Amino acid sequence: MDETGESVEIARQVRAMFRPDFETARLSDVSLEDLWARGFRGIIIDLDNTVCGYHESTLAPGVRDWVLAAKARGFALALVSNNFRERVAAVGAQLDVPAVPNALKPLPQGFLLALRHLRTRRAQTVVIGDQLFTDVLGAKILGLHAVLTQPIVPKDFPLTRVLRFMERVFFARVPRG
Ligand SMILES: [Mg+2]
Repeated sequence: MDETGESVEIARQVRAMFRPDFETARLSDVSLEDLWARGFRGIIIDLDNTVCGYHESTLAPGVRDWVLAAKARGFALALVSNNFRERVAAVGAQLDVPAVPNALKPLPQGFLLALRHLRTRRAQTVVIGDQLFTDVLGAKILGLHAVLTQPIVPKDFPLTRVLRFMERVFFARVPRG
């Protein structure tokens, strides 16, 4: 492979790390039947802007019912968040699911801790979240399935705003697919 070919291949591999397997408007739109039929048994869920709005601890409409339906179907669930312990534990308690705070996504340790709670293999596990640089990249680093949702509210943490700016810069000219 020549240098140009190699650069193209590297660019392709990098893009694949940021490419969700599926995109949807919100968590409650994700089809549990479809995930189950495809062999998934564990679900790792982001917190901020996926189950709650920024700085809110009330669950977004549909979240509780979706989580209850997931548990009833037999899925194992865990929350993985870069937010602090008290906030993440409070939401975890509301949903009665294990919660991993201070996860430093996209680094693997929080996801690995969640996998221990879930007791599912990586190939059986899906990550659902609203950010490419934390949720999708973190999932892809470990070979997990990634579902990207739209953020519940556009207002975000300052660091998240920087990451979203980078998403726009990096991906503005990259065709999807
Ligand atoms: Mg989020």
